[in-house]
Amino acid sequence: MSESMHILIIGGGIGGLAAAIALQQLGLAVTVFERTPELHEVGAGLSLWPNAVKALDKLGLGEPLRAMGVPNGSAGIRAWDGTPLVQLSASTLEQTFGAPTIVVHRADLQTLLRAALAPDVLRLGWECTGFVQDAEGVTAQFADGQSVRGDLLIGADGIRSAMRTQLFGEQPLRYAGYTAWRGVAHFAHDQLLLGETWGRGTRFGIAPLNQERVYWFATRNAPAGSAAAPDGHKAELLRRFRGRHDPIPAVIAATEATAILHNDIYDLQPLKRWGQGRVTLLGDAAHAMTPNLGQGACQALEDAVALAAGLHAGSSGDAGLRAYEARRINRANAIVRQSWRVGRIAQLEHPLAVGLRNFAFKHMPSNMSMRQFTWLLGHEV
Ligand SMILES: Cc1cc2nc3c(=O)[nH]c(=O)nc-3n(C[C@H](O)[C@H](O)[C@H](O)COP(=O)(O)OP(=O)(O)OC[C@H]3O[C@@H](n4cnc5c(N)ncnc54)[C@H](O)[C@@H]3O)c2cc1C
Repeated sequence: MSESMHILIIGGGIGGLAAAIALQQLGLAVTVFERTPELHEVGAGLSLWPNAVKALDKLGLGEPLRAMGVPNGSAGIRAWDGTPLVQLSASTLEQTFGAPTIVVHRADLQTLLRAALAPDVLRLGWECTGFVQDAEGVTAQFADGQSVRGDLLIGADGIRSAMRTQLFGEQPLRYAGYTAWRGVAHFAHDQLLLGETWGRGTRFGIAPLNQERVYWFATRNAPAGSAAAPDGHKAELLRRFRGRHDPIPAVIAATEATAILHNDIYDLQPLKRWGQGRVTLLGDAAHAMTPNLGQGACQALEDAVALAAGLHAGSSGDAGLRAYEARRINRANAIVRQSWRVGRIAQLEHPLAVGLRNFAFKHMPSNMSMRQFTWLLGHEV
């Protein structure tokens, strides 16, 4: 790898920003092109599991990240009536997997990543429309007619990646069969249990955040593109979750109606390749997954660290990209598949299937549930 390389990153989400930090640490010149003119304080919470915390440690951000965390006694899954099905203590999770689990507001993580970048790295309001590569370099083309030449290009442009379409053609996204709402409420959370409550074709998840805030999400089985209730998401959710165990209705009630996000859930069928020549993909552009394992952003962080390692070791830029892909693709694809499977179980609707599921979870020894996740959460990229 030559230290005079200039790397173009398309997309300033968590993946693009983290990759820029990792490449900057190698002493490489890097520019991130983000199409939105401003990075808004959007989004809700993000679970950063031990594998992601270890990746952020490698980016030198472990300490400020840990300072954002809220101590959690335990995490688990409950049945619809609030009965615990699986309960794991946060300290056991940390001891088993070698780092804590930290739930952050997405905007706080974005601010942390952005602050670690050199001042001129991030360019806002640059929408990349495509690229041209040749033996000497790669040229990114932008919507306003400008173009920028570099040595390598990283497509970190999210689930509907235009860079991926140029590389491999249109890849259909796969609708998971359920829709999700997310929000953040100001809410005292001394005794809150981090975790999910599973019903029939519906779920509600809660995680305490710093500054007396609570991140929550809700799902329900529905056809893609189902219309919102005429009186809005908040009113619909209050109706759907009326009578559920504490503090579900109160957390919804404490949320600003206009700040509730709603998305149908899609993933990308695992790709066989991520790159070609001087171009590769990273984050959701490469491996968009359903949120059931809370791993999408965690995997983008692992990608960032592995990309820098690949380029550091590679004899040339494109050899470095292929080394990165070889190191990451099987693991990321396995997590896409696993996340899909967990979603199928969590969203079961038939009463008999739900009863069997709950019985199996309730009677699973806790060390067995931990062991199942070692490959996923204990991983150090
Ligand atoms: C309901 C839900 C809950 C989730 N919960 C979790 C969780 O708890 N933990 C977790 O780890 N993950 C979670 N995720 C997944 C996580 O949000 C994503 O995996 C992660 O944000 C992907 O980051 P990214 O940088 O790859 O893509 P994005 O965040 O999508 O960023 C892509 C960026 O590229 C920009 N862009 C796009 N096209 C262009 C272009 N042509 N030119 C320039 N810029 C462009 C976009 O504006 C955007 O800023 C969740 C997702 C959902 C939907």
